[in-house]
Amino acid sequence: MRIYSYIRDHLGLRQVEVEVSLVSGLPKIQFLGLPDTVIKESVYRIQSAFKHSGYTLPRNKQVVVNLKPSYLKKNSRGLDLAIAAAILWETEQVPKPDSNSVALYGELSLKGDVLLPDDFEDLIDPPLTQKFYTGSSVRQPYFDVLTLKNLTDISNPTWVEGSEDAIECRRPELPDLWFSKSQAELIQWMAVGEHSALFAGPPGTGKTTLAHATALVLKDPPKKEFLSYQKISRHFGQTLLWRPIVAPHHTSTPLAMIGGGNIPRPGDITRAHGGALILDEFLEFDPKVSEALREPLENGQMTISRAGRVMTYPAKFLLLATTNLCPCGHYVPERNFECRGRPRFCLSLLQKISGPMLDRFSMLALSHEWNSQEQEVSLKSIFDKTQKIYNFILRTRGQTLSNADLDPDGICVRSVENLLPEFKDSFRRKNAFLKILRTIADCELSEIIKPSHVEKAYKISISNFNRIKNLG
Ligand SMILES: [Zn+2]
Repeated sequence: MRIYSYIRDHLGLRQVEVEVSLVSGLPKIQFLGLPDTVIKESVYRIQSAFKHSGYTLPRNKQVVVNLKPSYLKKNSRGLDLAIAAAILWETEQVPKPDSNSVALYGELSLKGDVLLPDDFEDLIDPPLTQKFYTGSSVRQPYFDVLTLKNLTDISNPTWVEGSEDAIECRRPELPDLWFSKSQAELIQWMAVGEHSALFAGPPGTGKTTLAHATALVLKDPPKKEFLSYQKISRHFGQTLLWRPIVAPHHTSTPLAMIGGGNIPRPGDITRAHGGALILDEFLEFDPKVSEALREPLENGQMTISRAGRVMTYPAKFLLLATTNLCPCGHYVPERNFECRGRPRFCLSLLQKISGPMLDRFSMLALSHEWNSQEQEVSLKSIFDKTQKIYNFILRTRGQTLSNADLDPDGICVRSVENLLPEFKDSFRRKNAFLKILRTIADCELSEIIKPSHVEKAYKISISNFNRIKNLG
């Protein structure tokens, strides 16, 4: 029978195997496999717990405890129970459970009480074994567990049925916001498809409000995945109730945004994992930040290497950013260059935008075209519509992924084949265009892609970019 327990990993708990063997020698417990002080101190907790529970350690044998894999340095708050149980089974003081493998995670008090370690919630992948032992907890777990009040319950634990209902997830209340029809359409496209978007244009056109409104109508997270978002937010000392919406200020350092440091730690892009990252005044951020966004936007993760250690952190988020097109804010494409005061400075910013930075975004929305005067659609009704669209996508294609995660080659465009633009150089643009095309049809609850969808997708994912690129 294999015995498993858990050690702290950089963002959560990781399974280890516990082996116990009795060898001749002085009676003591000897650890192998790089344990830290807390683990070594478990010897005293186990000795005391055994004494109070009427168990004994072998009188003339050494107990060797090996933690596999042995090369990892280990710290853990819940190995006590696994080691104690392994000794009891090995010395046949307690019959072994009828199972190929068991997992145990619990702390022992000196009197033998079994306690739930305070990082128990970081155990988000259900154990591979049916038999998982831990302390008796007040909260309902989301997978089945066997609980013990005291070490003496080891042969007779209480079975507690797990349920996904135990995972609490609550969408924040929607604020009373109103939008024009074109703004409402944009919010739907971005929220339903989860396509990264840049909002560019003069100040006071509602770019930031639109970005936040989009994040609020994203779909509910799958419950299991939400557990991993919660785990990350606990690492940052926060409690997450729904998908994360992270909006760092543009003065944030690259270290705080991306992660790193001598002892590597994750940054805001990992805190936004599973939700939205809103970057207001995108051009004001350190250029290193914009550069570093490339990897997470492609792979949904961030690799940090420092002093020979390579760490990979999850960082899959919807990127929503805003910017003025020039420092004075007056510049608008296709109008005469009306910048006051420092036109050369304004032009230099435009050139900055038109560089490879635009590649980070699938959509470019120009805010001077929004008609933000006619505020006639409430955020509540946009939310209701997005729920209908999610149901439509699920019903017609059985799809739970967002369109941004689709394989573009699998999108059926036969109905508009002769209308599709030619893509000579940028595969990334082509892929973004096809996915957005599917989203626009979905938002009109249409299974077939129509010519009007091509026109809209072309504008938001290609021609708007060209309008900016041809400026500077
Ligand atoms: Zn200007």
